[in-house]
Amino acid sequence: MNRNEQLFNRAKAIIPGGVNSPVRAFGSVGGIPRFIKKAEGAYVWDENDLRYIDYVGSWGPAIVGHAHPEVIEAVREAALGGLSFGAPTEAEIVIAEEIAKIMPGVEQLRLVSSGTEATMSAIRLARGFTGRDKIIKFEGCYHGHSDSLLVKAGSGLLTFGNPSSAGVPADFTKHTLVLSYNDVTQLEETFAQIGAEIACVILEPFAGNMNLVRPSEAFITALRTLTEQHGAVLIYDEVMTGFRVALGGAQSLHGITPDLTTMGKVIGGGMPLAAFGGRADIMACISPLGGVYQAGTLSGNPVAVAAGLKTLEIIQRPGFYEQLSERTGQLLAGFNAAAADAGITFSSDSIGGMFGLYFAAQPPQSYADMTRSDTDAFKRFFHGMLNRGVAFGPSAYEACFMSAAHTPELIEETVAVARDVFADMAA
Ligand code: PMP
Repeated sequence: MNRNEQLFNRAKAIIPGGVNSPVRAFGSVGGIPRFIKKAEGAYVWDENDLRYIDYVGSWGPAIVGHAHPEVIEAVREAALGGLSFGAPTEAEIVIAEEIAKIMPGVEQLRLVSSGTEATMSAIRLARGFTGRDKIIKFEGCYHGHSDSLLVKAGSGLLTFGNPSSAGVPADFTKHTLVLSYNDVTQLEETFAQIGAEIACVILEPFAGNMNLVRPSEAFITALRTLTEQHGAVLIYDEVMTGFRVALGGAQSLHGITPDLTTMGKVIGGGMPLAAFGGRADIMACISPLGGVYQAGTLSGNPVAVAAGLKTLEIIQRPGFYEQLSERTGQLLAGFNAAAADAGITFSSDSIGGMFGLYFAAQPPQSYADMTRSDTDAFKRFFHGMLNRGVAFGPSAYEACFMSAAHTPELIEETVAVARDVFADMAA
């Protein structure tokens, strides 16, 4: 038995499913998860001492590459000064000023420790600010695991959502309406009927949790116009897209200013750090200024802030995003050509350092589209790549991530591996 398998068995005896977050268990692709023992640059190593070119990047944070020497040094220095104080620090102000400078829609912000906290707090804030209860989310978008967001669509338009997890009372999700991504007509009809009751609309401005799905321009425009008209708060959940699709996130590419923005992943550079922020008049409703309660023992943790600040410095160096996009483009051009040569139905899409691989003729435009892609083909691709030393997220519904440490040579190597895998799949 290899070491990954041994560890997985040992883990399952003490940690439910053997993992601390479900997708890590390889449930949708089958097989044994790789237990990672170290990471550096574009590589991760598993407990069998096998090396993988990594396109998971810790699900997004590792944009400058794993264990970047400057980030590690910043973390070391911060750690020497103490791990947590539960009191304000100057570094928190510096990172908040930096984020506000980068993110067009952020005038003020609060630091938290996970994306889940950021979205949960933003929604509470939107409800407190508007004095309304109802919220709109979109099918296939993930905003963390707080109760009112673990919702699947009801049976028809204007039926409110049902819990998508056991343990969530239906009462907690009865104010959450689940609509289809990119469906402008449905959005217009909903606002026409109950616009005055809607506290907020939350969306992934490029969806990354149903694989990568782009919003149409009409959808984005309608979202901003309708929320403005009806006094609802527009929340861009940029936990994944922030500092990833472009420095200023999806909002800088859409040319849209949301009322609130949630951030995570890249801003912590691999440490537990996230944030929510936006219009100063809305942020003023948070305790201790206003009546919306929100708090955290480790919020603004000095070690996490140090990692985040150094990461934000590196990604603002000249040419960072141009190079990242170029590398993503190189990888996808290689994959597209290799799949076409093998006669495999395949398509791909990317925005900056985030990309999607689809076993479908066209990139999907909604969750329903995505369910029609060939998940068996994905499984064969995933294991073929992994067995040859290239790691992607273990689900057809995940986006993939490029880093600055992925050199053109490593990308060529990845494409050559994909060529073999596609040929195997076609045989
Ligand atoms: N929002 C989005 C868009 C995400 O992708 C995620 C995590 N993948 C979250 C929120 C939740 O973040 P966390 O896992 O840090 O709680």
